[in-house]
Amino acid sequence: MGKVSMKLINEEGLRHDGRRPDEMRPVTMEVGVLSNSDGSALVSFGRTRVLAAVYGPREPPQRYMILPDRALLRVRYHMAPFSTSERKSPAPSRREIELSKVIREALEDIVLTHLYPRTSIDIFIEVLQADGGTRTAAVTAASLALADAGIPMKALVAGVAVGKIEGVLVLDVDEIEDGSGEADMPVAAAPDIGKITLFQLNGVLTREEIERGLDMALNAIQKLVEMEKEVLRKKYTFNV
Ligand code: ADP
Repeated sequence: MGKVSMKLINEEGLRHDGRRPDEMRPVTMEVGVLSNSDGSALVSFGRTRVLAAVYGPREPPQRYMILPDRALLRVRYHMAPFSTSERKSPAPSRREIELSKVIREALEDIVLTHLYPRTSIDIFIEVLQADGGTRTAAVTAASLALADAGIPMKALVAGVAVGKIEGVLVLDVDEIEDGSGEADMPVAAAPDIGKITLFQLNGVLTREEIERGLDMALNAIQKLVEMEKEVLRKKYTFNV
């Protein structure tokens, strides 16, 4: 993507959409949005909107995929052709294949796969609208969809990206900031067990900036996980 030449931090220190550097976009979370999957969730971070659908534990489609001691976790991350301003080819790109792996690795150590040997748990991620931060919104949606499917996990996971624009560290970068920023650092974590499950850095940050950025991300992730719990509680608490 080409660099955009516009001022992204104004004189008051606010970002192009009026946010403070440590402010997230408005976040919404819904679970059980699809009736044909075992679990599902729809998550928005501002204009970024991601759907996750979970199927399983179920028999793997091919016998050779069977793992004798645990479930096979499969993740497909896909961007809908209408999710970007310029139509994206529906065929899986290298980026989508890589992100499917990154998202799977962000969940693999969290799901108690040993409880379901010889099965597969399939997570389909569909980016409905992309405005930056789709991989971290995807991990957040997948965590909710797994919980909605009743699949036991060590803890809930959420993610957010920290970026650096015009020398300032900012939380939850959108597409404009991502396209012209100096660095982008997506993070996902399970705060209840103190585990970082995804950490990437595109660009250059000093050691001090990485530490500060990580603190910003983990603070936000803690709040996102609280929000996940609230959404699940709302759906699964019955008044008798
Ligand atoms: P993330 O979505 O996790 O931030 P990237 O850092 O690769 O991943 O950012 C890509 C962003 O660029 C997307 O979120 C989206 O807003 C935007 N984008 C626009 N067109 C495309 C495209 N064809 N493929 C991928 N991303 C695109």
